[in-house]
Amino acid sequence: MEATLKIGWIGLGNMGNPMATNLLKAGFDLTVYNRTKNKEESLIEAGARSANSPQALLESCDIVFTMLSDDAAVKAVFEGPSGLLSSSNPGKLIIDMSTVAPSSSHYLSEACSKHQLHFLDAPVSGSVKPAQEGTLIILVGGTEENHAKAKPLFDILGKLSIHLGPTGAGSSAKLAINYLLGLNLQGLAETVLFAERNGISKENMLTIINESACGNGITKLKSTSIINSSYPAAFALKHLVKDLRLAGEAGLNAALYSPLYHSFQKAEEKGLGNEDVMAIIKSIVQE
Ligand code: NAP
Repeated sequence: MEATLKIGWIGLGNMGNPMATNLLKAGFDLTVYNRTKNKEESLIEAGARSANSPQALLESCDIVFTMLSDDAAVKAVFEGPSGLLSSSNPGKLIIDMSTVAPSSSHYLSEACSKHQLHFLDAPVSGSVKPAQEGTLIILVGGTEENHAKAKPLFDILGKLSIHLGPTGAGSSAKLAINYLLGLNLQGLAETVLFAERNGISKENMLTIINESACGNGITKLKSTSIINSSYPAAFALKHLVKDLRLAGEAGLNAALYSPLYHSFQKAEEKGLGNEDVMAIIKSIVQE
C-alpha cells in the first residue's frame, strides 16, 4: 500500500493514541481529530495534522478510522454537526474499531452506504500494550473487498486481522471474547481473595496461577497491578460494563452471564468505572 495514502484517525484515547502513532511511524500521511484537543498534541508533535471536525478530516483523507468509547460516541461522530456524514465523499472507506453493538455496526454501514461511503466494523482484541506494539487481533465485518483494501493498515496495527463475515460480524465476535475476558478477571479476583483469606499471599497465589495450566495472558498481564494494588486504566472498567450490557442485548444468557454483569455493574456504581478492569478486585473485597 502506498504510504502516500491519506489516513484519518478519530479518537485518541488509551487505544486510539498508540494505534494512530503506529500508522504515523509507518510513514502514512495522518490527520487526527479528538474531541478534547490536548490529546492530539503528541501526534501533532510527531508529524500528524489536526482537523477541526470529523467532516473536515474525511474531506482530506482516503481512509478514516474511528476508535471511540461507545455507540453514542460513534453515532455523534458520524451524525452530529460537522460529523462524518455531513458532506458528500463518495468512495471513501470508514473503519470503526470501537466496541459497539452489532446493530450499531449495521446502522452505521447503512448510513454510510446512503452516502456512497464504504464501511467496516473492525473492533480489536488486546489492550494498550498490544496497541503500542502493533500486535492487536482485528475482528472484521464487511465486504472481502474492503477488508483487502484495509489489510495493509491492519497489518501495521495488529498481528492478525480476521475477516469474519458481513457487517456486524466483527462486533459480534468482540462481544463474545469480552465475555470470556470478564469471566477471567472475575475468576482471577475471586481466586486471589479466597486464597488470601486462608493465609496464602497474593504474590504466592499469582505465582501458582501463572505457572499452572490456569495461567494465561490476562492473569500474567494483571498480576503486577494486583500485587501493587494499583489500577490505572489500560481498559477502563466502564467500557467492560458497556460490553457486557451489549452482549446481553445481543442475546447472551449463559449461566454465568447475569452474576458477572451484575458484579461489574456494582463496581462501576462504587465509582471504579474509570479505573482498570482489574479494579473489579477492589469491588469484590468490599463485599
Ligand atoms: P478511552 O480512552 O475512554 O477513549 C475514548 C475516546 O472516545 C476518546 O478519544 C474520547 O474523546 C472519545 N469520545 C467519547 N465520547 C465522544 C463523543 N461523544 N464525541 C466524540 N468523541 C468521543 O477509550 P479506549 O480505551 O481508547 O477504548 C476505545 C474503544 O475501544 C472502546 O469502545 C473500548 O471498549 C474498546 N477497547 C478498549 C480496549 C482497552 O484496553 N482500552 C481494548 C479493546 C477495545 P475525549 O478525549 O474528548 O473524551
